[in-house]
Amino acid sequence: MSSRRPKRPLNKDAVKSANAAIWRRFPELKGRKLTMDPKDQVYRKQWMDEYLAAGGELENPDDNGSDTKVVQACEKSPPKIFKPKLIENGADIITKSALYKDCSKDIKGKINSKKFNESEQKLIAEVLDKYAALLKCKDHPLKAIGRTDRAITKNGTCVDESKTMGEWFADKGALILTDSANNTIDFKDESTQFKGTLAHEISHALMNKYDPRTCKSYSSITENPLMKEFMNAAGWSKKGTILKDKSSAPTNYAKTSPEEDLAESSMLFLYNSDALKKKSPARYKFLKKLFGD
Ligand SMILES: [Zn+2]
Repeated sequence: MSSRRPKRPLNKDAVKSANAAIWRRFPELKGRKLTMDPKDQVYRKQWMDEYLAAGGELENPDDNGSDTKVVQACEKSPPKIFKPKLIENGADIITKSALYKDCSKDIKGKINSKKFNESEQKLIAEVLDKYAALLKCKDHPLKAIGRTDRAITKNGTCVDESKTMGEWFADKGALILTDSANNTIDFKDESTQFKGTLAHEISHALMNKYDPRTCKSYSSITENPLMKEFMNAAGWSKKGTILKDKSSAPTNYAKTSPEEDLAESSMLFLYNSDALKKKSPARYKFLKKLFGD
């Protein structure tokens, strides 16, 4: 299939004018850029006509074929991100993880897998979009997201419980959200809490022993350059055992360890950034740079 391709470099004024023209003519686009999705095909043709009319030139002026490749050439395509898949066997992640291998069949039997409903799927997509800058490595640790009713906690003995909102299982490359993921602890409404819980767990998955800026894994948090920088910014001791200024911690839970601090800070940065900025300008600044806002 031949394509009408614009000549490089693009005529910036013609791009602007073509965008403005199609947005005016097709209000349903609401000012968004065109994509390579088939549903945009008719708009792409119009866009190219407008581009040429505004003085843009073709790479090969004799070519008048289909223009499905045109927009790809004109608009910068969004960076590729590698999203985890949503799985339906969440209970397997918990019950087969090395973390709970010693727990009894009886306890494991109390954990049931659930499917994400449509609104949960939408919320998950929103959170993953917020994390786009940290999902660019093909081999990042977060492969899957699952859903269960309950969780297991092991403090010497194993118990099944309904308090845990979410948990990251490094050995499975999966994080689990439970029925409690939207219990309003940090936020007033359930949807924001659900997103916040997920944001917290994704932080563990992508940043505890991994640096998504360089796509490298580490055997401990104190070797991870990302964690080292965060600990320094947040005021943790080098070994990550002492938080110097506890009043700067974004939440009480954040005081328990650098990993929880970063997870809580990430959650607040994404869903209550004013609170984080007020409580800890240093953490806010660190995350702003990291998330690329
Ligand atoms: Zn956590």
